[in-house]
Amino acid sequence: MQPSKRLCHIGSMDTPAIDGWFTVDDDTVHLIGTRCAECRTVCFPPRTGFCPNPRCPGEELVPARLSRRGTVWSYTDARYPPPAPFVAAEPYTPVTLAAVELAEEGIVVLGQVKDLTVDDLHVGMELELTAGPLADGPLVWMWGRPRGPGQTGAGAPASTGGTGGTGGTGGTGGTGGTT
Ligand SMILES: [Zn+2]
Repeated sequence: MQPSKRLCHIGSMDTPAIDGWFTVDDDTVHLIGTRCAECRTVCFPPRTGFCPNPRCPGEELVPARLSRRGTVWSYTDARYPPPAPFVAAEPYTPVTLAAVELAEEGIVVLGQVKDLTVDDLHVGMELELTAGPLADGPLVWMWGRPRGPGQTGAGAPASTGGTGGTGGTGGTGGTGGTT
């Protein structure tokens, strides 16, 4: 409905809720993951130490910008305010959450959904990375309606086919920041 909506909250004035997990250049948000230099397994959030692929001895994990688009793998909404330290808006409005499978990497990244409810979402729907402020101010990445024509087909990532399997499950735990 609002294909050209500007990300008016994104700018240098905003403080990221988490350092090093995403960047905002102009209006463009990128998640920052790591890619194993040896087996190419991609992780989000970024990690240090050793490769999570149990068959890989790699220890060089290189920061990498991840796909900005993906498809809805699952979704829900939080009808009750999450516990502290989350600061809920007053009055509380349900927060929509989506687990989105990144177009190229195949990993699943959870995030709040901006300006959409569960009634607007369906599995397989394309979403694009954006960002928005939490109720208490800090900026986080969010998923939103794509702002332009689909881009996931551009430059078919033929070389990444092998990485999805091992990298995939690692991504799902990252979004809450607790694992
Ligand atoms: Zn590896």
